[in-house]
Amino acid sequence: MTHGGRVKYAIKVGVAHILYALGLLQLWQRIALRRRAVVLMYHRVLTAEQRRQSGSHPAIIVEPETFSGHMLLVKRRFKVLSLEDFTDRIERKIPFDDSSCLITFDDGWTDNVTNALPILRKYALPAVVFLPVNFIGRNRLFWQEALVHLLVLAVMTVRKDPTRETRFRDLLDPIGLGEIFDVRHDDPRPYVIETISKNRKWLTPSVVEATLTNLRIELRVENGDSAGIDSFMSWEQVDTMSRQGIEFGGHGAEHRLLSQIPIPEAREDIQLSKEVIDLKLKCDTSTFSYPRGYWNPEVAGLVKASGFRLAFLAQGRSISCHANPFAIQRINICQAATESMPMFLARVVGLF
Ligand SMILES: [Zn+2]
Repeated sequence: MTHGGRVKYAIKVGVAHILYALGLLQLWQRIALRRRAVVLMYHRVLTAEQRRQSGSHPAIIVEPETFSGHMLLVKRRFKVLSLEDFTDRIERKIPFDDSSCLITFDDGWTDNVTNALPILRKYALPAVVFLPVNFIGRNRLFWQEALVHLLVLAVMTVRKDPTRETRFRDLLDPIGLGEIFDVRHDDPRPYVIETISKNRKWLTPSVVEATLTNLRIELRVENGDSAGIDSFMSWEQVDTMSRQGIEFGGHGAEHRLLSQIPIPEAREDIQLSKEVIDLKLKCDTSTFSYPRGYWNPEVAGLVKASGFRLAFLAQGRSISCHANPFAIQRINICQAATESMPMFLARVVGLF
């Protein structure tokens, strides 16, 4: 974080804590969430130690203690809905009870089972997990994490043998990633993650694929990912969660950005996610989450035609029962913005 960013963050923390201590944040919640619901969007729940091994961006991570604090607050101050109740209110336009809440997770990371499920069980809270079906039960990584792990390995390789830097720079400079070799910190991982995030505009699917292949050749790494901490659930784990009251929805098959690909490919990807989940869980999956929130009305039409009844975006604020069923806003929850109860509440009620 820049100096300016840190100051701004400290001011936000201060404001949230003062408003909470004065009871004003709680009053704001009662007014702002009258007959409204918030849909919380989580991705990963990782311990500090696990975070140090992960290639995931901090914007999709909360730590278990933080998550536990959120769930305690949600249990006390919100009416947490089952997916069925939530769907019913949207479809029949029945106003939500004050401060209603739906808890969702994207991607089906293994840590949802190991770290999140015990906390959800402790507070007896329902949740929905959206699965990109081609990653479930397979030893595959999302490209973001795969790229981070290879780039970290490249930095370490160059530190041992500086003569190899030129070759890596030839590969990475054209897509803005060559600067990873400038980092002097012992652990280059956070810097690598930020550098990828900053240069995302260059990283089209074909560029990513070529870069991953070239890096693997250069680093002599097998083309089989060893997913490790960044792995996704097995279908057995999906089943375990399902039997403990967790619901599942579609998140595409290949986690593709659906509004950026040809319509027939989007249709196939969406349909496959429904077919596979319905088959594996012997159910009629009703909900979908657009990967990274990429959607447009045409994509929404495909989701509807595939048999889904609701679809969720990747950003937004609280909603009323009149929300578009195929563009339901969610609030992204990550560690930095929500590590104390006042900060979490401030984010959920739309103050920050
Ligand atoms: Zn996703």
